[in-house]
Amino acid sequence: MQELNKASPQPSSSPEENNNSAVVKPKRRVRPWLLLSVLLLLIALLSVRDDLRETALTSSQQAMRFVAFELLDFSPRDVFVWRLRVAGLAHRPLGQRWITAVEKASQQPVSITHQSYINASFADDEVVAHVYQLSLQQGQQLLWQLTRLTSSSDNLYASLERKGPNANEWKKVTALSADGTEHRHFISQSGDYRLVLQPELFSSINYSLAVAHGGSLPFPVKGGSHHDIGGGFGVARDGGARAHHGVDIFASKGTPVTAVVDGKVRIGRGGLGGNYLWLSDNKFGLSGVRYYYAHLDSFAVASGDSVKQGDTLGYVGNTGNAKNTPPHLHFGVYASGPVDPAPFLTAKPVLPTR
Ligand SMILES: [Zn+2]
Repeated sequence: MQELNKASPQPSSSPEENNNSAVVKPKRRVRPWLLLSVLLLLIALLSVRDDLRETALTSSQQAMRFVAFELLDFSPRDVFVWRLRVAGLAHRPLGQRWITAVEKASQQPVSITHQSYINASFADDEVVAHVYQLSLQQGQQLLWQLTRLTSSSDNLYASLERKGPNANEWKKVTALSADGTEHRHFISQSGDYRLVLQPELFSSINYSLAVAHGGSLPFPVKGGSHHDIGGGFGVARDGGARAHHGVDIFASKGTPVTAVVDGKVRIGRGGLGGNYLWLSDNKFGLSGVRYYYAHLDSFAVASGDSVKQGDTLGYVGNTGNAKNTPPHLHFGVYASGPVDPAPFLTAKPVLPTR
């Protein structure tokens, strides 16, 4: 009953307020509350100030590191250059030699093959950088293992960089840590790459660097290898009317074809591909990289199936426009558009041990 009595006068009172001073009155009500809550918040902050100050400091350092290295793309080497500036050394001959050492070494880089093992050192009385250059294709993976052979706390700046569209422009791909463990990077853009190593000033560091590059996917035809790839990517088809957007992997009819990644499949029948299927590396079957398998004799999966890497998807055949050619798997890779599958399918890289 009380509630009802209280509730009833309210609707009649608010229209009155609106009529008298609709603009000013609500503001007067809000402001003291806002001020009071801000004050209360400040008091609460002040009372736990010591705790807050400490966490704020570490979290702001983390935030600074995040902003510097992740958002602004500064490397630890950039930070060292900044330290040289602060120390007033950046414009002195020594600082200049350190800053331009990478550029200088890049004029005569050491070319590395698909498998390289390097044992080298920096002396504390020289100001140099070591630059190793290689060219990589989309679909390959690069493996490296950088090991410090001398125990010192001196910084060794090391990074993987990709050549930009302009001359002498290199973009950092990732930092290399000299932790003696194996690291890998999947190459999503073909081009010239370099590994850059440089210690801070007055450091003597011995290191070993093992590098290898090769394919990033398991072979999609059971028992086959990249030597079985016949028709290449991009060659003209139908008298030049279209380009071949995949590779042809020859194998005897009925050989299992397998999933190159974990993903979801969608099968289809008809047209140039005959019995074909799409394998998407996205679990929802949307976006991501898609793999196309065509001319299958038969399927081992159905549309909507989730598969694991290595699962049998179907069997090699010559359906579709391959009906007059020997049985083969037409294999395509689509990442926004068709890309050459061959670099994905070359032998997996193995790091040399010496
Ligand atoms: Zn083909």
